[in-house]
Amino acid sequence: MDNKVLVIEDEQEIREMLNFSLTRAGFSVCEADSAESALRQLDGPLPALLIIDWMLPGMSGVELARRLRRDEHTASLPMIMLTARGEETDKLKSFDSGMDDYLTKPFSPKELIARMKALLRRTGTPDSGVIACGPLRLDLKAHKLSVDGQAVKVGPTEFRLLELFMRNPERAFARAQLLDRVWGRSIYVEERTVDVHVLRLRKTLKPHGADQFIQTVRGVGYRFSPA
Ligand code: CA
Repeated sequence: MDNKVLVIEDEQEIREMLNFSLTRAGFSVCEADSAESALRQLDGPLPALLIIDWMLPGMSGVELARRLRRDEHTASLPMIMLTARGEETDKLKSFDSGMDDYLTKPFSPKELIARMKALLRRTGTPDSGVIACGPLRLDLKAHKLSVDGQAVKVGPTEFRLLELFMRNPERAFARAQLLDRVWGRSIYVEERTVDVHVLRLRKTLKPHGADQFIQTVRGVGYRFSPA
């Protein structure tokens, strides 16, 4: 995943300009000239971030974003959308495509890079190796959790569970979704295993007053709510 960015843009000039600027800024850039081509590329290892042009031939950028948000594999991918002037950003926002940020063309590569870095800091990327949310801090490289600066011991499954929660605050996950994302699709685990590990995670967080962040969503599963 590292610093890979997928640029989805049908205009070759803009793709080349982005490739040049982003590469210079230390990103590794892949390109797609359509949503369909992007979907094929996203079947494999995921990039750290997507830059999506709104107006694409065939499937639009908005539709692509919606599709990616619905798919477990790509649901939490950070995305920035590029729009042309005249494509009203407010209207775009109301589409609720799950976009993390927007930029109106023409834009400066500098601004895009600043927004990308801000977004990657928010979503926690391997480039920083740290996800922070309220008093919780996960060091992904060292596999360590701290709460209010105090180191807290946590099991490997609880760590992965917490990582998923912290990357997706306020999102309700069904048990089956948690199984897919934390245990993987290839392993058969019963849904009540999820409850066991959520309970353990809460026990781990309880002495630090952070157990209430993991909320039960009746009839669905669980949600991480640090507010
Ligand atoms: Ca376009």
